[in-house]
Amino acid sequence: MSGFKRIIIVDWSASKVPSPKKPSPDAIWMAVHRAGATTCTYHRTRSDVIEALCAQFDEAIAQDERVLAGFDFPFGYPVGFARAVTGRDDPLALWADLAARIEDGADNANNRFDVARDLNGLFPGVGPFWGCPAPLADDNLPAKGTSRHGHGMAERRKVEDLIRSAQPCWKLYTTGSVGSQALLGIARLERLRARYGAALSVAPFQASDTPIVLAEVYPSLLAHEVAARQAKDEIKDCAQVRVLAEAFAGLSADHLDAMLREGDAEEGWILGLGHIDALSAGLERYPPPLKNDCFALPQGVNWTPVEDALADLRSRLGPVVGVETVPVTDALGRVLASDVDAVRAHPPLPNTAVDGYGFGGGRGSGVHRLPLVAAQMTAGRAPDMTVPEGHAIRILTGAALPDGVDTVVLQEDVSREGGAIAFHGPIKQGANARAAGEDVRAGDCIAGAGRRLTPSDLGLLTAVGVGTVQVRAPLRVGVLSTGDELVEAGGTAGPGQIYDANRPMLLGLITQLGHVAVDFGRVRDDRAALSACLDVGANEADVILTSGGASAGDEDHVSALLNEAGAMALWRIAIKPGRPLALGMWQGTPVFGLPGNPVAAMACTLVFAAPALAQMAGAGWSEPQGFDVPAGFEKRKKAGRREYLRARIRDGRVQVFPSEGSGRISGLSWAEGLVELPDDALHVRPGDPVRYIPWTGFGV
Ligand code: AMP
Ligand code: MG
Repeated sequence: MSGFKRIIIVDWSASKVPSPKKPSPDAIWMAVHRAGATTCTYHRTRSDVIEALCAQFDEAIAQDERVLAGFDFPFGYPVGFARAVTGRDDPLALWADLAARIEDGADNANNRFDVARDLNGLFPGVGPFWGCPAPLADDNLPAKGTSRHGHGMAERRKVEDLIRSAQPCWKLYTTGSVGSQALLGIARLERLRARYGAALSVAPFQASDTPIVLAEVYPSLLAHEVAARQAKDEIKDCAQVRVLAEAFAGLSADHLDAMLREGDAEEGWILGLGHIDALSAGLERYPPPLKNDCFALPQGVNWTPVEDALADLRSRLGPVVGVETVPVTDALGRVLASDVDAVRAHPPLPNTAVDGYGFGGGRGSGVHRLPLVAAQMTAGRAPDMTVPEGHAIRILTGAALPDGVDTVVLQEDVSREGGAIAFHGPIKQGANARAAGEDVRAGDCIAGAGRRLTPSDLGLLTAVGVGTVQVRAPLRVGVLSTGDELVEAGGTAGPGQIYDANRPMLLGLITQLGHVAVDFGRVRDDRAALSACLDVGANEADVILTSGGASAGDEDHVSALLNEAGAMALWRIAIKPGRPLALGMWQGTPVFGLPGNPVAAMACTLVFAAPALAQMAGAGWSEPQGFDVPAGFEKRKKAGRREYLRARIRDGRVQVFPSEGSGRISGLSWAEGLVELPDDALHVRPGDPVRYIPWTGFGV
């Protein structure tokens, strides 16, 4: 059977009334993981979540997808309980029996305490079930666990002996109890068994080779991962089901199948117990979410200096893409997700750097004659021989040095006399030989996490025996243009209209920065239309770049919408060219609202977006690499903002484009980089050193 396309985790509840309207903790939460994304839903009643679950199951069956559904209540009881209740050791016979006893209304009203009391009546003494509100307690269902005696059942299942924090299934009431959850949950799942028949199985009681598989899960198994991955305004129950679903989704199909076979066939089992490392490793594909306040404005600043804005972005953003394993041959341009160590040394064995003759030890000055052994060492041959002291062997470039050889004399320096060679000394011990591991030792770190792999890296990785690497999923960067005046490239532009020049330019920049550019087209200055586009964008991209409409005017809908979404900051950055930069979150996806002017859009992309995108792609913050060049121009600037001028180098001097107008798109094409002038006042005279950053210095 193929792997699971859907992983569903349900946080169950035994509440006797519907949970609050407003999504709340300690209620029913369901996470559905499918196609790399997880959706969490809140449910006020058990009937409601079962309905949602059936919709998932039906859709999965219609689409021929397998689904694994995990529930956080015990699926079984200690050995002997099933027989005592049903006369058989079959846990599913017990399920049917419980389902026949339990009444559980659409409004959560239920008879679980009565059922427990009746079940206790089947046992001698008092128990095994206990715990209920004081007025309901009686001799058959005590309020205290210590009042029980003589019922003959073990207190815990075997699996609960392995997880001490897990509560026994007999306790029905108060903090942390799971007994009521199990009675009500098993009854509900038994109805699903009836409904889906042979298409559904229950692990580990049945073979998990069906389209629908139900399993018991325990969210606290991954408590530390949940703590690290819970988003700021996310309810813990929601984070728990989400993280658990993602952890199971991160396992290989074989691994998950093997886990489903584990456990006790009568008592049941907690899926994944004993595999916490594998589950945590699977989660590396799901980086912790960006916080919604990651673009909050620096406090009390009117015009934010470029340096401060960059430092803020740098500290607040992190990788947003997951991790996958690819063969080295497919890894060009990909960002390493983990450090890579050499599997073997390079070179793996001592070998010769030249064509010549090998022997042991150096030789002093004067003529040396050495008899040749009959063999010859060529590249690829295992050094499975020994060259006796005082003898030499014919050896060709790259061949491993056999035992007894550590020095090679160049063939051009040798005369052959029958079965011997003669040459003039001196020759140093070790000449023309390469030591094993002189380049790289086995276990050396050869490439660090965050590195974008170059062709030479692929060569090195291969040379040291690395076949696959863990890389970041490519960062998907969406580009959207806004403005009523815009016309598609190559279209017919009426009076008052202009061509959408930013989009092809920004899409090109994204591609050259090594990300996946996603074209979201153009949108009118219309809030509903823009909002719909951002919805699509947030769904399909990891980051969105918009251009236009980013300031605070009437037609600046990008900033208005992000503002309404409550997660935006209009950064007034002290930079020229560039007006305010609207930074915000749209449904959890960061949006860079760039200015509409092409020159400003380009400068802001290079200065702010490029390093931020690198950070989000897992490549780390990228500092632009510039250098000082004598100015080929004169310019005065005032203090208080940083300026970027379109520039290029000719004859060892940096020239700037004659016009600084930010609408002059021709200057961008003329330029080959930018001159960066510091925030302070400055008078640049020809010949003064100024900082020049070529496009390549921005990673383009
Ligand atoms: P805005 O930021 O929307 O006020 O736009 C500022 C200037 O940039 C206006 O002159 C716009 O017409 C121009 N502009 C906006 N978007 C684009 C675009 N995609 N291509 C070329 N120019 C644009
Ligand atoms: Mg506009």
